[in-house]
Amino acid sequence: MGRPGSTSGLDPRRPLWQAPGIVRRALLALIVIAPTWAAADTVTGYDHGKKIKIQVTKVDGAVVAVRTAKAYRQMAKAAHKDGVELGIRSGYRSLAQQQHLYDAFLKGQGNSAAPPGMSNHENGTALDLKLTDPDAHKWLVKHAAKYGFAATVPGEPWHWEFVGSTATAAAKPAPVKAKKRTAHKHAEEQEEESAF
Ligand SMILES: [Zn+2]
Repeated sequence: MGRPGSTSGLDPRRPLWQAPGIVRRALLALIVIAPTWAAADTVTGYDHGKKIKIQVTKVDGAVVAVRTAKAYRQMAKAAHKDGVELGIRSGYRSLAQQQHLYDAFLKGQGNSAAPPGMSNHENGTALDLKLTDPDAHKWLVKHAAKYGFAATVPGEPWHWEFVGSTATAAAKPAPVKAKKRTAHKHAEEQEEESAF
């Protein structure tokens, strides 16, 4: 009765599933791995300090919120038709990535950055675009609003945010920003002082 003599390792006379620790380890592995598979495209983001879940996808190798990516792809396609190539340098950022940038900024080692939890890269709406094509910025200024994108940080011509696509946005980018400022006044003011 009780335990067999050996307390360690596999006993060749017993089925594998009875081996000590094996089943437990296999279950543990599944518990650890399965959520990673299931939630591969959902990440934790922050919207003006509030924790949110964001669906993300990859565009140009960058992680981008699905909603922003959809609008960006349409915009990039239109730019391409006009002979202008757009690209994404940075899209969604995790809290840790923003913390890293913010720490570098505080040490004087990087561009100015929003405090962790406060960057619109963390809520998935901001994109830092590649402006390597000399016509890219000019094209964006003229057409980006049609696709719901607005330049929101003075002094950062690469930083564009998906603010939603409406006829009003296309015609008058400024009022859209004014409306947003009312909703998130404090955060927006902070955003304009520091860069994102
Ligand atoms: Zn940015």
